[in-house]
Amino acid sequence: MKEYLDVALRAVRQASEICAAVQKQLVAEDSLTKKDRSPVTVADFASQAVVCRALHEAFPHIPIVAEEDANSLRETENRELLKKIQSFLPDWSETEILQSIDLGNGEPGNLFWTLDPIDGTKGFLRKDQYAVALALLKDGQPILGVLGCPNLPFSPEDKSGTLMYASQGAGSFALSLSGGEPIRVHVSQNGPDGIVRFLESVEAGHSNHSLQGQLMAHFGERAQSVRYDSQVKYAVLAQGLADVYLRLPNPSQPDYREKIWDHAAGYAIVKEAGGQATDMFGKPLEFFHGKKLINNRGVVVTNGKLHDTIIALLNGKQND
Ligand code: AMP
Ligand code: MG
Repeated sequence: MKEYLDVALRAVRQASEICAAVQKQLVAEDSLTKKDRSPVTVADFASQAVVCRALHEAFPHIPIVAEEDANSLRETENRELLKKIQSFLPDWSETEILQSIDLGNGEPGNLFWTLDPIDGTKGFLRKDQYAVALALLKDGQPILGVLGCPNLPFSPEDKSGTLMYASQGAGSFALSLSGGEPIRVHVSQNGPDGIVRFLESVEAGHSNHSLQGQLMAHFGERAQSVRYDSQVKYAVLAQGLADVYLRLPNPSQPDYREKIWDHAAGYAIVKEAGGQATDMFGKPLEFFHGKKLINNRGVVVTNGKLHDTIIALLNGKQND
């Protein structure tokens, strides 16, 4: 496992640094809108190129299932975008960039990587939170997860960003993106009778904020809420800084299914920190049906202590 982890950490750290550099000097021309109307930026492409190349060089036989592909970058109208990517990867040829991005077109199998080169692109564009999210899945289980969170301060003194990782059976760790010693992290111990700190998406369309509101009302003044983009929510929960992450399906998109790269890395990190993650009915997350969690609805992540209470309340509330 250590050889996987070393390569994954190095790749995610390098991608995170590039994303942070792009975000600092972001201009409107740095992004385009995909067919599903979601945005993709210079940084998403550069991040995917860097991580895929590192993984492929070290483990050429392990497929990579990543969110982006290079098709749009091959179109003449997007030449400037490709040039811009190259300005952040000065030693790379255009062909190397395109081919490295497309290394992420692999198919899920018994052992594969899944990568979201920028999870929370909308947050990235707002200059808010986002994460570079990489997981290794074996026999349908995320056995290793790495999250690069460039805008999540590691400590009050060190604002250079946070790198989090976990591998199965070895615990969950956080360190500064600028280096230093990793520290082991654990979820909180808060139970249903105390303060309950909820995490939600910033983007209203990615969840059901009204149902979340009803659930939180159950805890009255003991409920607190904080919104972050991306799998940074998993990182915050794994560090014990929040207790519950709710991702309840948006009622106006009943056919939406969660993507594996939006959860696998965070899942591995929260589990190893002592937490729990299921769908909104309490069903285990099934990462073994391809690129989507087709047999699950929504995602509920907790410190473990709160899990049964939240699932019970959620399902009682649903029938209101
Ligand atoms: P967050 O920042 O937590 O809102 O999550 C960002 C992720 O939400 C993106 O990477 C998308 O893959 C995903 N997403 C997009 N549309 C939806 C939707 N309707 N419901 C849930 N997740 C979505
Ligand atoms: Mg994503």
